[in-house]
Amino acid sequence: MINSLEPKIACSYNPDHLVNPARLLWHYTKCPDRKHMSQMFKICPYNPAHHIPNCELYNHMKRCPNAKVQLKLNFRNDEDPWG
Ligand SMILES: [Zn+2]
Ligand SMILES: [Zn+2]
Repeated sequence: MINSLEPKIACSYNPDHLVNPARLLWHYTKCPDRKHMSQMFKICPYNPAHHIPNCELYNHMKRCPNAKVQLKLNFRNDEDPWG
């Protein structure tokens, strides 16, 4: 068993929940802690697997690794009428 070598991401709602990144979205659909904390969190518009505390969403969006891709694509679409 080499499961310990797999990277794990901590659940936003409970850092004790260490989840395989590929299963994070699925985890959030059934996370028991999300049920009573969901109003305190927002979902990143660039990546539905990023569940961010309300007060940190603005900062997160400025440095979200997925935001760069998204903004680049939008910029290209705006600039290139043939694209
Ligand atoms: Zn969780
Ligand atoms: Zn994000």
